[in-house]
Amino acid sequence: MENANLLAIAEEFGSPIYVYDSEKIVSQYERLTGAFKQVKHVKLNYAVKALSNLAILKLMNSLGAGLDTVSIQEVKLGLLAGVEPANIIFTPNGVSLEEIEKVSEMGVQINIDNLSILEQFGTKHPDVPVCIRINPHVMAGGNSKISVGHIDSKFGISIHQIPHILRIVENTGMNINGIHMHTGSDILDVDVFLYASEILFETAKNFKNLDFIDFGSGFKVPYKEGDIETNIEEFGEKLTKRFNTFCKEYGKELILGFEPGKFLVSEAGYFLAKVNVVKQTTSTVFAGIDSGFNHLIRPMFYDSYHGIINVSNPKGRERFYSIVGYICETDTFATNRRILEITEGDILAFKNAGAYCFSMASNYNSRFRPAEVLWHNNKAHLIRKRETFDDITKNQIDIDIFNKVEVPAS
Ligand SMILES: *Cc1c(COP(=O)(O)O)cnc(C)c1O
Repeated sequence: MENANLLAIAEEFGSPIYVYDSEKIVSQYERLTGAFKQVKHVKLNYAVKALSNLAILKLMNSLGAGLDTVSIQEVKLGLLAGVEPANIIFTPNGVSLEEIEKVSEMGVQINIDNLSILEQFGTKHPDVPVCIRINPHVMAGGNSKISVGHIDSKFGISIHQIPHILRIVENTGMNINGIHMHTGSDILDVDVFLYASEILFETAKNFKNLDFIDFGSGFKVPYKEGDIETNIEEFGEKLTKRFNTFCKEYGKELILGFEPGKFLVSEAGYFLAKVNVVKQTTSTVFAGIDSGFNHLIRPMFYDSYHGIINVSNPKGRERFYSIVGYICETDTFATNRRILEITEGDILAFKNAGAYCFSMASNYNSRFRPAEVLWHNNKAHLIRKRETFDDITKNQIDIDIFNKVEVPAS
């Protein structure tokens, strides 16, 4: 997308606003499937939690992607977007047996990540095929909050508990049709991923009726110049070779699955905000925008980096700025950034704003959540209205008891 397109969208629909470039999503999808074109059956299940707007889910569906979901509400969004239940996998952590049963009744593939639920579900529904989420105990991930495969992680069933899994499977007569791992976001090293994959292949040999092996996600995308990103082409080549060999040994062409979120949508997204105030202090120049961590929490939550450009002043000279939000506590998006000279009223564009940005937005400080726009075939489509004051109040119940003056009986 051109900066001028972004500026025009902010002018037409107001700020703050999220914008997604469908072309980038399509090219990322094609890049990942292209890296595995030598595997007979490849399935990408888009991780809905990254960005869950119905228009995005419909776009994924049109590309042939399935969905990876973590709540019954995400499953319902997928169905509403027209995705077939058989194209949805449910990979929750710590949800109730009741929720898993309800999702299973919808015809969605269940992925279980603890022995307690596995035993209960298998006992009650031995006929429903189930995938098992394995924790291979491989340390990977860019930040402790998104690194989920290590030994202390709450996710998955430990590889050391395979004997226990097998006993449950045997006792209940349940059918395991898939094996899954998801070691966490930001895998830098292809060899670490391949090492974890070996553990998954070893595990898979214990199950005779598999249809698929799901390698989760963790593809790193660049956030700033010089960032290392997962080398998808190298990864595809290496894992393809290994996967095809495994299928031969196993005696069946299995489906190779992934569940990318960030890889598909991160770089497609821009967050546009307007500069309300430029404030010179003794140590820096702050640019205060009409938004805060209520709309984009990743810098405060994960220390994540988002490139920021001033789309209103393309010919300006660069100066150093600290970009801050309007929330009444520390609310810093960036410090010491070189940005084209900012004047109050300018529109700043935050890059990599497709994944875990709008989907993590809240109403903190009683602010409205932003609007969302999909840029498709050179046209801006509004895909979510900006909230209004009614959205802030609609579920509140006015109990109307504090303003009555009680007059004591004389
Ligand atoms: C969050 C999540 C993903 C997506 O991770 P990304 O880093 O966004 O690609 C995939 N699988 C599961 C089970 C997840 O919880």
